[in-house]
Amino acid sequence: MLSNFKIIGRNGFDITEEVTLFVLAAYIQLTLGFRSYSLPIFKTILIYPDSYRNPFTGEMHDGEVNPRGVIVLSWKRLVKGYENPTDCINLGLHEMAHALKHVISKTEYFEYEIEREMSNFNLLSEAEIDKMKAGGEHFLRNYASTNSSEFFAVSVEHFFESPVELKEHLPQIYNGLKNLLKQDPAKGFYSAS
Ligand SMILES: [Zn+2]
Repeated sequence: MLSNFKIIGRNGFDITEEVTLFVLAAYIQLTLGFRSYSLPIFKTILIYPDSYRNPFTGEMHDGEVNPRGVIVLSWKRLVKGYENPTDCINLGLHEMAHALKHVISKTEYFEYEIEREMSNFNLLSEAEIDKMKAGGEHFLRNYASTNSSEFFAVSVEHFFESPVELKEHLPQIYNGLKNLLKQDPAKGFYSAS
């Protein structure tokens, strides 16, 4: 598993066993339903101690995915994502979801079936984004309406942190993710009780 990618600390950040475990937790949680728990092409995970400035854009970030194969995360935000497991804000899952969407849509690594599930999900997301942009209440946080990539990433956060509610409010979105990720967290798999 660890031979699939390298975790590298930036700005003097030390990669301890705890850091490795948090990164693996998000990585495996998302890819658990697949034959190999992996996000091919994403070979490097950079960890900053906190929010960081992207040297190219000059903007501050908590995380991002570079399609050349790099996932970047703020350690502080990564931990925060797991401190509250039901608030639907989880940086690790969010950025891993971006990486997964890229692998499915832009590479040949996943079988046709998953590519089809992703296209179906994209169609569903367009309809929901239109609803969000039209205003009014929506179950997902507003950031999801930015574009289909953010919609997917935010939906994944809800899927794992509030599965029963997502299934109730947006059953098609829940089922789309269930079919795509081959996991059914609303069944209580992640329940602490
Ligand atoms: Zn995002």
